[in-house]
Amino acid sequence: MDNCIFCKIIEGIIPSTKVYEDEYCVAFRDINPQMPVHIVVTSKKHVPSVLGFTEDEKDILGGIQLAIAKIARQEGLVENGFRVVNNCGRDACQSVPHIHYHILAGGNMGERIV
Ligand code: 5GP
Ligand code: ZN
Repeated sequence: MDNCIFCKIIEGIIPSTKVYEDEYCVAFRDINPQMPVHIVVTSKKHVPSVLGFTEDEKDILGGIQLAIAKIARQEGLVENGFRVVNNCGRDACQSVPHIHYHILAGGNMGERIV
C-alpha cells in the first residue's frame, strides 16, 4: 500500500535489518529498540491491525505465530525467554497502521506487562 512504511520495508524500498522472511511475513530489527533485542514481525499483506483479518486468512495469522517461534530459536531467545507485544489502536499507541508484533528480549522485563 502506498505511504505505508512497513509495506515499503517489505518491498525493500526502505532499508531495514531483516532477520527472517517467509511467505507470510517479514521480520526486521526495530529502528528504535526498547530492549537489547527488539524485532518487528509484520504480515506481508497490508492489514491495518489484528482486527482486519478475515476467517479465510487464518493461515497468515498461524504463519506469523510459527514465524515468531522460529525467530526466537534463530536468535537464541528460547533459554532466557522473550515477550511478544501487539499494539492495536489509539490507547495502545499503535504508530504504524500495518499489523505487526514486537519480539522483545535481552533482559528481565518485570512481571507487569505495562
Ligand atoms: P507500534 O508503535 O506501531 O506498535 O510500533 C511501530 C514500531 O515500528 C516502533 O517500535 C518503531 O520504532 C518502528 N519503526 C517505525 N519506523 C521504522 C522504520 O523505518 N524502520 C524500522 N526498522 N522500524 C521502524
Ligand atoms: Zn502496509
